Amino acid sequence: MRFPGTPSHRLVDDGDEHDLAAWMLELIDQSPDRLAFITIPRPIDTDDELDAIEERTLAAYDLAKAERPDLAVKVIPPIPELPGSGDTALVVVLHEHRWVGGRCVNGCRDTGPVDDSAEAA
Ligand SMILES: [Zn+2]
Repeated sequence: MRFPGTPSHRLVDDGDEHDLAAWMLELIDQSPDRLAFITIPRPIDTDDELDAIEERTLAAYDLAKAERPDLAVKVIPPIPELPGSGDTALVVVLHEHRWVGGRCVNGCRDTGPVDDSAEAA
């Protein structure tokens, strides 16, 4: 995972998860290495609120993944190295793999499934 120079995008809390999914794919398409960081800004008052945001984000991810089967997501704690991630509750990392011979040519170090039916969601 690379941080320097990778822009982050603040989660905009409008629209439904279909809008959010479309936005996620837009971000991925804008990125040369198919990598996007979405920051979930504070303030978030309760853990329940945070859970709800995370749930909605992952629902949107599921919709996006239905269109792009090689999309991957990680939800990580805020990282100081990430530009624009100050005052952030969570960071959602999106990446679209492109597998060539079991390796991703979109710049990550993951190794790809030869048989992706065995891959857990
Ligand atoms: Zn990849």
